[in-house]
Amino acid sequence: SLTKKVALITGSTSGIGLAIATTLASHGITGLILNGLGTPDQISTLISKLTAKYPSCRVIHHPADMSKPAEISSMIADVIDTFGHLDILVNNAGIQHVAPTEEFGDDAWDRVIAINLSSVFHTTKHVLPHMRREEWGRIVNVASVHGVVASPNKAAYVAAKHGVIGLTKTVALETAALGPSIEITCNAIAPGWVLTPLVEQQLQVNASRDGITLEEAKRRLVSEKQPMARFTRPEDLGEMVAFLCGEAGGTVTGSVWTMDGGWTAQ
Ligand code: NAD
Repeated sequence: SLTKKVALITGSTSGIGLAIATTLASHGITGLILNGLGTPDQISTLISKLTAKYPSCRVIHHPADMSKPAEISSMIADVIDTFGHLDILVNNAGIQHVAPTEEFGDDAWDRVIAINLSSVFHTTKHVLPHMRREEWGRIVNVASVHGVVASPNKAAYVAAKHGVIGLTKTVALETAALGPSIEITCNAIAPGWVLTPLVEQQLQVNASRDGITLEEAKRRLVSEKQPMARFTRPEDLGEMVAFLCGEAGGTVTGSVWTMDGGWTAQ
């Protein structure tokens, strides 16, 4: 059980991040910091739903923009002010931009690198001193199969996710060297296709480009590269994060856990 733990999940107002937050709450964490975009109404609805279901978990939202390092450092400071400690960091915020490299906009490149890669550096850097003080911590980075293999037209995303996996390994080595009294781990998970708003947006584009239904676009997308032609459920990723954050995950560090229906086994 993760009782007494406080977790921050970036980009947790939607999709995978929200599912991870909900799963950690179901495993008994005491404090939850949501982060991500949304209207005040949407965010307060999310908080009330979580609080109604998990009354012993204190849930707040922090609006820090993951493309802005100064907002990230003040978010970590605010979390420590509010909860006193931060035990679990899940770096999940991410965006996609699809275009051939020759036509890839400079701004789109900078934005994807900032949100999908640099934010992981900034949160980790500011969280580590607090984990070191508590002698315990878990960092889980939501990478992607695109951190292990590439696909065309996703230059920034693939570069960022490969970068996240490299950063994960470096942080794992540094925290492992802190000595036997300190148990801080850092791992990445690498999902294949997960049906979330991020992917639905790509499906809409594919469906109108190819003149097919959304259902057909889904079928084609998921079977194009994944031997198991089926989406991974966001809550399954949540259970993987819960495992990595639990006692049994104590020596799992620097690893990349694929949940990709065999995509990268080929
Ligand atoms: P999503 O679009 O449903 O959720 C993204 C979250 O990030 C939202 O909460 C959004 O508000 C937040 N966000 C976006 N820009 C932000 C910013 N500037 N600052 C703070 N928060 C911001 O997407 P998702 O599919 O749930 O993706 C979550 C993560 O999982 C991403 O890192 C993505 O690359 C990764 N991933 C997704 C899939 C998939 O198939 N859906 C596969 C592999 C990896």
